[in-house]
Amino acid sequence: MAMAMMTMRRAVALGARHIPAAPAASSRVVPLRHMSADAGAAMEKILSVGLLRTQGLIAGKWVDAYDGKTIEVQNPATGEVLANVPCMGSRETSDAIASAHSTFYSWSKFTASERSKALRKWYDLIISHKEELALLMTLEQGKPMKEALGEVNYGASFIEYFAEEAKRIYGDIIPSTLSDRRLLVLKQPVGVVGAITPWNFPLAMITRKVGPALACGCTVVVKPSEFTPLTALAAADLALQAGIPAGALNVVMGNAPEIGDALLQSTQVRKITFTGSTAVGKKLMAGSANTVKKVSLELGGNAPCIVFDDADIDVAVKGSLAAKFRNSGQTCVCANRILVQEGIYEKFATAFIKAVQSLKVGNGLEESTSQGPLINEAAVQKVEKFINDATSKGANVMLGGKRHSLGMSFYEPTVVGNVSNDMLLFREEVFGPVAPLIPFKTVEEAVNMANDTNAGLAAYIFTKSIPRSWRVSESLEYGLVGVNEGIISTEVAPFGGVKQSGLGREGSKYGIDEYLELKYICMGNLG
Ligand code: ADP
Repeated sequence: MAMAMMTMRRAVALGARHIPAAPAASSRVVPLRHMSADAGAAMEKILSVGLLRTQGLIAGKWVDAYDGKTIEVQNPATGEVLANVPCMGSRETSDAIASAHSTFYSWSKFTASERSKALRKWYDLIISHKEELALLMTLEQGKPMKEALGEVNYGASFIEYFAEEAKRIYGDIIPSTLSDRRLLVLKQPVGVVGAITPWNFPLAMITRKVGPALACGCTVVVKPSEFTPLTALAAADLALQAGIPAGALNVVMGNAPEIGDALLQSTQVRKITFTGSTAVGKKLMAGSANTVKKVSLELGGNAPCIVFDDADIDVAVKGSLAAKFRNSGQTCVCANRILVQEGIYEKFATAFIKAVQSLKVGNGLEESTSQGPLINEAAVQKVEKFINDATSKGANVMLGGKRHSLGMSFYEPTVVGNVSNDMLLFREEVFGPVAPLIPFKTVEEAVNMANDTNAGLAAYIFTKSIPRSWRVSESLEYGLVGVNEGIISTEVAPFGGVKQSGLGREGSKYGIDEYLELKYICMGNLG
């Protein structure tokens, strides 16, 4: 019955909009014969299950940009064009907002159980299309298939978790100050949410936002990165198949500043949630002031990874390798500075370099690959700039330090020694496969160095001492701390930064609060 109701509501939402019809999606896909064998076979698999969507989604309709303009989606491993997607702007975004706004009134009235069931179905569909989604992600983003499959599980876990959490959005009854009154607190969805996401986690950064938003009755306009829209569109297709009503989830992409401005200026958008660069996050925060929107920001990090003299060397190497080289160093929680106590420095450096040498660089579609390409040429140029800056100031390249012989945007996994706090490698996020090693003497010195940044997202420490684990974890000005562990993100724990790394938390029981408003109801004159 719930599903029948959803179908009816979807029809109402669809009828309300007048979105121009668009040609078949397949016309936007580059002919497979023009692709390399691997990519062509992967695309064929994705096409065969109908998950190669190349249009935006507004009010449940797949649409082109109103002026017909498109942008290319490229495979960073080969430079091949995979597809063309619409280059949308303010007009399409306004329609997406209107669709989300009108659907809000129906979706927010669904019972928690109905919303939960639709989300659960979406989760099941994502999992049953794990392989195709991972292929899509590897093709457009470059990450190795193993990591892409991991991201599908991770991304889906937010939908599963918030499907469950939808049923647990409890209010409160407050003991009254007067005997004839009752004081209640109701939690209600904030309204239309604008979600802007980056390319490094093409699925998980979307589900981490859309899961809790839909769970509590909000509707969403998502703007994925123009580098990785195909995964987002495939996930949105599965949401429709799951019975998430048309208009509850809209996807637009193209001219980022124009789409961003349309979201910011709209009084109907009540919340902006963003993952991306600190510079764009600050713009979105400032732009939200005019209409006083709720804002969640997950911005850049500058993660310290502190290896103390008493660390288990194998645990420290394994953990820092994972924290540094996951996604070829392109995550905001990647270890950006590896601080190593002087007593263990030589031993750690030797073991770490050996581990880095074993990383296999290549096309993510190849099974043996553990390091894919960087997202584009600009990313490689940034890495080169940081390496040049470091070596000109006295750092020494211990491994790698140049573009990989595969060409394109492949860069050699790199270890740089003797990095100091005046270098870009220390001060800013390199967002690439470069591990800077920084020697230190005392615990206090390590903590001071770790906190010597405006960022405050993730930090890692390696030590066998329990008292030190506590003391250092408490002193680190970071939102997440991994102790003897390099991969710590999970849907059940709060993810987010302090200082200029952002506002708010995603995932976990805390993450849903970002999409809720508290309403205090005072019932008086009860006799
Ligand atoms: P990155 O450097 O990791 O790509 P960005 O902050 O540039 O980080 O991008 C993250 C997301 O923000 C992407 O979807 C991008 O298109 C979007 N974006 C970039 N500039 C703007 C803007 N002015 N307004 C709204 N969104 C933007």
